[in-house]
Amino acid sequence: MPSRPHLWYTLAAMDRLPSATHVSASRLRWALALPKLGVVLLLAAVATLLWLLHQNEMDEERAALIKDVLWLEQNMRFHLRNNEEQLQQLAFDLGTQADANAIFRVRAAHLLKNNPDIARIAWLDVRGTLKEALPGASAEVPDADAFGPSSAQKAFDTALRFRTLVYSEPYVTEGSTAHFQVNVPIPASGRNTGMLVATYSFEKLLDSQVPWWFAEKYRVVVADDNDIQYAAKSNIQGTPNLSYQLPFDPPAGGLSFRVYSYQGAGNPLQRLLAGAILVLATGVFWSLWIVRNLMKQRARAEEALRREHALRTAMEDSLTVGMRARDLEGRIIYVNPAFCRMTGYTSEELVGHGPPMPYWIPEQLDETMALHRAVLAGQAPPDGFDITFRRKDGQRFQALIYEAPLIDGDGRHTGWMASVLDVTERRYAEELARQQQEQLQFTSRLVTMGEMASTLAHELNQPLAAIASYNAGCLNLLASGQAAPDDLRKALEKLGVQAQRAGRIIRRVHDFVRKSEPKRAPCLLGEIIEDCIGFVEAEARKRRVQLRTILPELPPLLADRLMLEQVLLNLIRNGMEAMTDTPEGHRALRISARRLDDEVTLSIADNGSGIAPEVKDKLFTAFFTTKPDGMGVGLSICRSIVEFHRGRLWTEDNAQSPTGSGTIFHLTLPLEPA
Ligand code: ADP
Repeated sequence: MPSRPHLWYTLAAMDRLPSATHVSASRLRWALALPKLGVVLLLAAVATLLWLLHQNEMDEERAALIKDVLWLEQNMRFHLRNNEEQLQQLAFDLGTQADANAIFRVRAAHLLKNNPDIARIAWLDVRGTLKEALPGASAEVPDADAFGPSSAQKAFDTALRFRTLVYSEPYVTEGSTAHFQVNVPIPASGRNTGMLVATYSFEKLLDSQVPWWFAEKYRVVVADDNDIQYAAKSNIQGTPNLSYQLPFDPPAGGLSFRVYSYQGAGNPLQRLLAGAILVLATGVFWSLWIVRNLMKQRARAEEALRREHALRTAMEDSLTVGMRARDLEGRIIYVNPAFCRMTGYTSEELVGHGPPMPYWIPEQLDETMALHRAVLAGQAPPDGFDITFRRKDGQRFQALIYEAPLIDGDGRHTGWMASVLDVTERRYAEELARQQQEQLQFTSRLVTMGEMASTLAHELNQPLAAIASYNAGCLNLLASGQAAPDDLRKALEKLGVQAQRAGRIIRRVHDFVRKSEPKRAPCLLGEIIEDCIGFVEAEARKRRVQLRTILPELPPLLADRLMLEQVLLNLIRNGMEAMTDTPEGHRALRISARRLDDEVTLSIADNGSGIAPEVKDKLFTAFFTTKPDGMGVGLSICRSIVEFHRGRLWTEDNAQSPTGSGTIFHLTLPLEPA
């Protein structure tokens, strides 16, 4: 029986798998859904966090913007108020001091120098006529009155009327530069004597008052209610994201500061963090995806393993062949339930056990140990071997063992795998069959003898009659008193020869029917054939059959002579019987032998009836016969005897028969070296 040690070893390893690792499909779905939900929630949380951070940043930016705008507005107001004071002081001095012109020139120059945003300072009389101005009249900074009833004129009039400092509304000159004026009345002895008019350039005001860092962050625009833009300052480009507006007061008149904030680079650390979170979240999602695939693969593998495990358990339980695996030291590493049932020991009792095994026969320990060592040395017979084992309850049984090397998954030889068959019943049946076969052979021989009895009796008659006549002759000689010793000796010698002949016949019959164990010994095929012919020649004569033998020189055969004689006798007698209806001239039986390499083929050819095709298949079956008084066991016994001698027996039609029908029985016998 071919064993599959590798498969069994693998299956044995699977036995150690815990069944709890099996994840059901719904559990797996849940197990996979939870991380997915977790990742979605995580992404939502990260998005919310980023949004909150952005909002926070916007709020902070807005707060910073408002603070900066307030600061700018305050700075601007402070600057303008400061200038107001200086202008008022100058106006007062112009109204009260004698050398007013000189004072104007010095102080106005000083003011202009310190305030680049003041484009011009003019000294007018109450009618608005220019008395003095620094710098002189220019196209760029024209007089206020040059525009007639303009906003500047209105402010001039108001200042004059209310004797107070008044800012004009902004106006745009032809060169499209925007300006505004501050009119400071020059009081002298309780009345107005003139007007000090300072012209501010919006552009320059922003240039001087908006610091560089402010311009780096914001765009500052001065505009009025009608969205007319008078000046702007910024060092950056782009789309503003925040803006804040504050009234520009002074000079008022609907003017306001509009400060636009631009999206800066933001907080790089924060952005880096957000980016990192996004990358990490993607990484987590990706790794979860991989884990999901791995889990699916694992679940599939577990399912396959579970199925295989179930199959293996079913196979193990239903197997009637015992399986036993041993490591290279001979210790048992695995036994299947069938082996446990066979020996009566449990798997726990056997696994880990080394030689001598508990199921070995105590009085055969040495032989079993020698066999065990031979197996470990790789010298176990490939066709298996028989051994007697002892069950736990002491009962003995016959085991047929096939040993094969145990190869693991990496192709390494890790031990020996044996399949063990309890062949007690089989061996008993075989023994019984053998005995029955022997009995049958014996019976068949007796039957043959019975059938040949009359011919043999006739055969015996001849020497007995000769003996009787020689005896009578001798007696007569003695009675006549002329008995010459020589005559007597001759007659007695002949008598002795005939007695020996009769004795040989009797011994042959005796030998043939003697019951004996088969034993093979060197014997010559020629002698066996000669013996057989001696047996049947009387019958052949009676049947008028010619016996011919063609024998080459042959070495001795290792065979049981009696058994071979039985085969030949059977075949010869069958051949003669088949020729009953053959014309007398053609009744010939040819016994020939041919040597081919290391075997001899013996052929017995007759010119008889031949064998019908429908009979051919049944020829060698026991108890098949076509003869009314036949037993039908001859050929089946012949075949088993030939096979016992490791030969073959078969038939073919005798194509060379002169009658057109006939049979040849061939049998081969191996020539074994003596
Ligand atoms: P039995 O001779 O008692 O019938 P065998 O087993 O010797 O038993 O032979 C079985 C049958 O095979 C015979 O009955 C016969 O029909 C057939 N047979 C055997 N030898 C020959 C032969 N040489 N020619 C034709 N038929 C044969």
